[in-house]
Amino acid sequence: MNYSAEPFAGNAAAGGAIDSHTVLYGVIGDPVRHSKSPIMMNRAFRETSVNGVYAAFHIKEDQLAAFAGGVRAMGIRGVNVTIPHKVNIMKYLDEIDPAAAAIGAVNTIVNEDGKLIGYNTDGVGYVRSLKEEAMPSIAGKRVLVIGAGGAARGIVHALAAERPERIVIANRSLGKAEELAGAFANLAELEPIASGGLEEACGQADLVINTTSVGMYPNVDESPVGKGWLKEGAVASDLIYNPLATRFLREAEQLGHTVHGGLGMFIQQGAIAFEHWTGKPAPVQAMRETVLAALNGQRS
Ligand code: NAP
Repeated sequence: MNYSAEPFAGNAAAGGAIDSHTVLYGVIGDPVRHSKSPIMMNRAFRETSVNGVYAAFHIKEDQLAAFAGGVRAMGIRGVNVTIPHKVNIMKYLDEIDPAAAAIGAVNTIVNEDGKLIGYNTDGVGYVRSLKEEAMPSIAGKRVLVIGAGGAARGIVHALAAERPERIVIANRSLGKAEELAGAFANLAELEPIASGGLEEACGQADLVINTTSVGMYPNVDESPVGKGWLKEGAVASDLIYNPLATRFLREAEQLGHTVHGGLGMFIQQGAIAFEHWTGKPAPVQAMRETVLAALNGQRS
């Protein structure tokens, strides 16, 4: 079957007709109804005249094997995978990209003629967004990553490829920071620290990244760091995009720091998935507009 992105007058989500050439895409998660991926990806198909339609599937863990079979049987071309399935889906795939294997999680599946290949676009999406929006080069920089969960793993892996001077990983549970630093010790200079060392580490970093959920809605008055802890000229980056600017970023901006929010990572992880599926450059600006409008509408 030829999955190449055929030109089309519009996709189903744009009001164009679904026809016998329409290719299916989707996201799986549990829960999944909050996901902004369907509106973002259907806008991307519309902008690029790809005859595709993207839906959200609420899949429970015990349905993952059946879902993978369904993807093959129905010729679903691409799937995004979100919480809590990024690790468990891997055993149902035919091939795992080396970076996703090293990270230990998959967020994007490409169906190549019935062969399901898993990729991880979270970390590379983050780095692409950071370079475009806030820090054009990470080479030689001192990076501080706060948190050592699933998102931090992808980000540390992608950052390591940018040749930073070193990456310090600070986590509430030191063991998880040590485990993460150990996993990628061959890729970069990595140093795990406990939260007690955070203020000092902030003062030495050129880039401070919050990968924890501290500051996320509804706890918008929380911040993982104290105001004024960053050194002059340091960039403040947060994976959270609800709110678009967390307390950490608002305070850093007040003190003159360049700030980088989590929306760009969300857009770029989707853009890279789109590129894997269609072979076309993603219409990033249109995707961003659509997600921003949805997030703003949600708040009004
Ligand atoms: P996760 O695997 O559950 O990891 C959570 C991390 O946050 C752990 O390091 C945890 O520390 C730390 N943490 C949680 N609550 C804390 C607290 N009260 N004080 C200190 N540390 C705390 O979650 P994840 O999947 O990595 O996601 C983390 C964040 O990234 C979430 O806010 C998520 O929305 C965001 N994210 C954004 C994007 C995007 O596209 N922008 C993509 C993925 C994730 P312990 O190890 O000590 O528990």
